[in-house]
Amino acid sequence: MPAADYLVTIGLEVHCQIRTATKMFCSCRAGFGYAPNTNVCPTCLGMPGALPVLNEYAIERTILAGLLLGCSIPPVSKWDRKNYFYPDMPKNYQTSQLDLPLCIGGSVPLYEWNFPAGAAVSQAEAGVVRRVKLDHIHLEEDAAKLTHFAGYSLVDYNRGGTPLMEIVSAPDLHTPDETYAYLKSLQQIMVCAGISNADMEKGEMRCDVNVSLRPKGQEKLGEKIEMKNINSMSAARRALIYEIHRQAEELDAGIAQEQSTRRWDDTLGESIVMRTKENAHDYRYHTCPDLIPIHTASLVQKVRQEIPELPDARRNRLIAEFGLPAADAATLVADAALYDFFEQTVDAGAPARKAANWVINTLTAVLADKETDAAKCPVTPHHLAGIIDIVEQGIVSTNQAREVLDLIWGHPELDAAAAADQLGFKKTDAGALEMLVDAVLAENPDMVELVRAGNTKLINALTGKVMKASNPKPNPKLVTQIIISRFPGI
Ligand code: ZN
Ligand code: MN
Repeated sequence: MPAADYLVTIGLEVHCQIRTATKMFCSCRAGFGYAPNTNVCPTCLGMPGALPVLNEYAIERTILAGLLLGCSIPPVSKWDRKNYFYPDMPKNYQTSQLDLPLCIGGSVPLYEWNFPAGAAVSQAEAGVVRRVKLDHIHLEEDAAKLTHFAGYSLVDYNRGGTPLMEIVSAPDLHTPDETYAYLKSLQQIMVCAGISNADMEKGEMRCDVNVSLRPKGQEKLGEKIEMKNINSMSAARRALIYEIHRQAEELDAGIAQEQSTRRWDDTLGESIVMRTKENAHDYRYHTCPDLIPIHTASLVQKVRQEIPELPDARRNRLIAEFGLPAADAATLVADAALYDFFEQTVDAGAPARKAANWVINTLTAVLADKETDAAKCPVTPHHLAGIIDIVEQGIVSTNQAREVLDLIWGHPELDAAAAADQLGFKKTDAGALEMLVDAVLAENPDMVELVRAGNTKLINALTGKVMKASNPKPNPKLVTQIIISRFPGI
């Protein structure tokens, strides 16, 4: 029986670190990139007798996520201990939520622009965005980070105790492409609302996928196979394509599937079985005696006042209000720091399309080059607006503007005009530049003849000669324009 004769059911558990200053149950700093084991205290190291203190802001952010996704927020939510013995959790239990989570139900929209290129977009009906049902969202603490070497492992407890939201979908996804769109849409919502940076490369968002197959016509879901800790959206898609194919082949051959956990190896492109059957009772869940239940009414009321713009509204606004191309709008919606930079550049007076172009193309390239991100960039939106302005005024060319940007990077006290000045870029006196062009043409009669005969490539060489002869350096585009004006009819 071909794979097409099976019904595929996919469910996702997405862990998302909440963007907070401190951890979930202590005042240690939360965040990525600190020296190992420097942000720790007796509470997050699980010392006997150390008691937890709740991070109210993390609870509010989880409620905000729930409200954005249409979840209901029960009036009372409680904490449970999930027991397991492993060095990433020094208390030997994770403080989590089992049966009274903060958010229940809800759904995630599959924004059409988030499907992989060429994929069929799933819609509820023509023109209506399909929404994938959620089971619930609960709040818990992240485990420490283990790094394995040959024969030993190292543990960094900085991550241990970071507020972590777990977003559990219903078994309501059906294809690898939908799963990809789900992860991307969910990520954009978290980023847009400022709830999480949700950077999968940094482990701020991680996902476990489970998938089962059953023959068409069969009511009961097939045995589900789970794949844990998949660390990119495209890996989730590849893992599912592989796993659906593998299960269909085995079912065809009469091999029944057993509920199990497999590890996806993205380099090998295959999944390997880790363990079979694992149920909630294995964790001996019980109510946490150290934490009283949360009464949510006043928090919900507070959070309702601050519902932010969702990605589809933001994207549509960028297209309608600023005339941005759809692809640029989607790029800005997917990266909160980049979006903020863009918005502030526009506020500083730059035309929106130019600002988007600079932020998306040049700034991201420079940031990648310097291995940093927009939030830590020494070049400010104000600087960038200044750079765009001197390009517009013809004081510098686009290439020269890159040099201006590089100079400001090391000298953020300079504004764009001062940096251009220091590099010798000045607005050229148009009359003087025309005279210089004519002089250079007069000095190079052979080249002029060849250009007249149709060898237009030499215009670049002539531009180079004019550039060499000028001080301060004019905008090369302007030089080329003047040269071309000397050859009517080419
Ligand atoms: Zn701590
Ligand atoms: Mn979890």
